[in-house]
Amino acid sequence: GRQNATLARRLKRKECKDESGMDTHSSPRVRRATTSRAERIWPGGVIPYVIGGNFTGTQRAIFKQAMRHWEKHTCVTFVERTDEESFIVFTYRTCGCCSYVGRRGGGPQAISIGKNCDKFGIVAHELGHVVGFWHEHTRPDRDQHVTIIRENIQQGQEYNFLKMEAGEVNSLGETYDFDSIMHYARNTFSRGVFLDTILPRRDDNGVRPTIGQRIRLSQGDIAQARKLYKCPACGETLQDSTGNFSAPGFPNGYPSYSHCVWRISVTPGEKIMLNFTSMDLFKSRLCWYDYVEVRDGYWRKAPLL
Ligand SMILES: [Zn+2]
Repeated sequence: GRQNATLARRLKRKECKDESGMDTHSSPRVRRATTSRAERIWPGGVIPYVIGGNFTGTQRAIFKQAMRHWEKHTCVTFVERTDEESFIVFTYRTCGCCSYVGRRGGGPQAISIGKNCDKFGIVAHELGHVVGFWHEHTRPDRDQHVTIIRENIQQGQEYNFLKMEAGEVNSLGETYDFDSIMHYARNTFSRGVFLDTILPRRDDNGVRPTIGQRIRLSQGDIAQARKLYKCPACGETLQDSTGNFSAPGFPNGYPSYSHCVWRISVTPGEKIMLNFTSMDLFKSRLCWYDYVEVRDGYWRKAPLL
């Protein structure tokens, strides 16, 4: 484990802000640091959402693709809000691309998707804030990995480069991740596109790692989110029209004390057909020890079939 993170009180900052169109320049990129405040974690990993009225069908589709991307690789679930008290609202605010970090609680919270932010990778990044991630370059240990070049930062944007206190974030033992979707690019908030604001340190081969990708969650992002939400150690989310899954070790025996969850995710109205082709469970009275449960719903307490 690493530091524990209460949120940036010192900065009086509740939201993470991103430069509009930050992914349009092809400079290198990377990132990751999670909230350590338990109340900022969405209970059960369930995040209710509402998409505000002014988005086009294409934009709404992008939002859903980005949510599905998070669902595929982690155990968080985005559900259309019905009567939940706390939920996110895709909206457009003056900050451009910004989001509260984690769950605020007590009502709606905005995830602002401004002009030039309506791209898959940027929406996935903003959803990273919703899930509980700060920008990777604000980690307390960042100076070992990147150099901030203050004179190149746009006036008034310096606060976006402040380092968090060790008590404000918890990286859950994950190493600094240049490849994180939460890392700024080299020229984010730069006074000129060719001026670096963040310079990654050279690796052992003298190469500067690429930072600022907005393509997909990195392996580190996935590992850290799975830790943050205590995702089951095995299992996956199936999102295609067909798929297979099996216990770890299959066709050999499964390990003791394993708890796996497979999620089969479809569009509402679609029918799911589940076909067991092989079943070999340790026998115990009333299935006290080993069992397979099938539930209909998006979380662990959904009705048992
Ligand atoms: Zn951000």
